[in-house]
Amino acid sequence: MTINHNQSTKNDLNRPVLSIIIPVYNEREVLPLCLQRLNDVAKQLNATTELLFVDDGSCDGSADYLAGQVTMDTSIRIIRLSRNFGKEAALTAGIDYAIGEAVVILDADLQDPPELIPKMIEQWRKGADVVLMQRRSRAGESWFKRTTSHLFYRLLQHLSRSQIPMDTGDFRLMSRRAVEALKQLPERNRFMKGLFAWVGMPTVILKYDRDPRAAGTSKWDYLGLLRLALEGITSFSIRPLRWAMGLGIIAALIGGAFGLWIAFKAFMLGDPVHGYPSLISVITFLGGIQLIALGIVGEYVGKTYIETKQRPNYLIRDVTHAPEITNIHPTNKVKEDIHVQAS
Ligand code: UDP
Ligand code: MG
Repeated sequence: MTINHNQSTKNDLNRPVLSIIIPVYNEREVLPLCLQRLNDVAKQLNATTELLFVDDGSCDGSADYLAGQVTMDTSIRIIRLSRNFGKEAALTAGIDYAIGEAVVILDADLQDPPELIPKMIEQWRKGADVVLMQRRSRAGESWFKRTTSHLFYRLLQHLSRSQIPMDTGDFRLMSRRAVEALKQLPERNRFMKGLFAWVGMPTVILKYDRDPRAAGTSKWDYLGLLRLALEGITSFSIRPLRWAMGLGIIAALIGGAFGLWIAFKAFMLGDPVHGYPSLISVITFLGGIQLIALGIVGEYVGKTYIETKQRPNYLIRDVTHAPEITNIHPTNKVKEDIHVQAS
């Protein structure tokens, strides 16, 4: 099926063709440059564009700055979350609220160059549902971060049944069809890269050079990344549970063989019972394996627990936009304040 991109604009003049979702968490420093570059790109595009900023509980005035820009730039829409929910939740909010026929996800820190958007649109117009941006290089990131990230993607690809492409971040374009598919995934543990991959759809991969951050600092520390990595693995694979079982079987076999050997020595060779050190080491080894296995099981039980609570992925504090935009169809059930900025 090819999408008729003109159809909905004909039906509905207010509907932007392209929504650019930008998650923002304490990015006040970089926002002026970000807006300028986005607007320069939007001018070149042969499409109406909406800039959908999702303020993820910033406390440095990012949201106020953006609200101040709405009067000057009517293409801006700001969704303010009630607190910091994390990038994955901010992206989910953006995806729920985006009204474009195509949706692009872009980091506020300009690590994903907005100038590539025209190329992405070109691929979408040719029929791709997903245009994935794959990092050829990552300037300004440490060797350690690049290596660990590479290893993580390798492991994830090995573990998960849906192919999560190597070295891709959240920077991508999705067609309305792909966005609607994504919106059907209700889970609370939102590892977006995995969810994107799960959806599938005709995908084009474009390579790009990732820029260093334009200003400000990264919001991720290594512990945060480790948590995200663990989240990614356990959300998309139950293989660690099988590994735990495998490890248990191997340990049991070794233990059994060792027991037989000790019995053989005691009965046949008349070896008196000794070996306190070996006893202790076997006990601690097995205890360790049991705890690891229990931890893995616990991780999945915990995930199930969180899912069963059915809490929303994010809460909206308010939405701000220019009066020109009239038709917004939030899919979130929570009723929010809508501020319409007078122009
Ligand atoms: N971000 C967010 N919520 C958070 C952390 C980050 O919305 O809790 C946004 C942040 O403002 C930026 C994007 O996610 O636009 C990527 O964050 P960052 O640059 O800190 O991550 P890195 O590029 O270092 O992986
Ligand atoms: Mg960044």
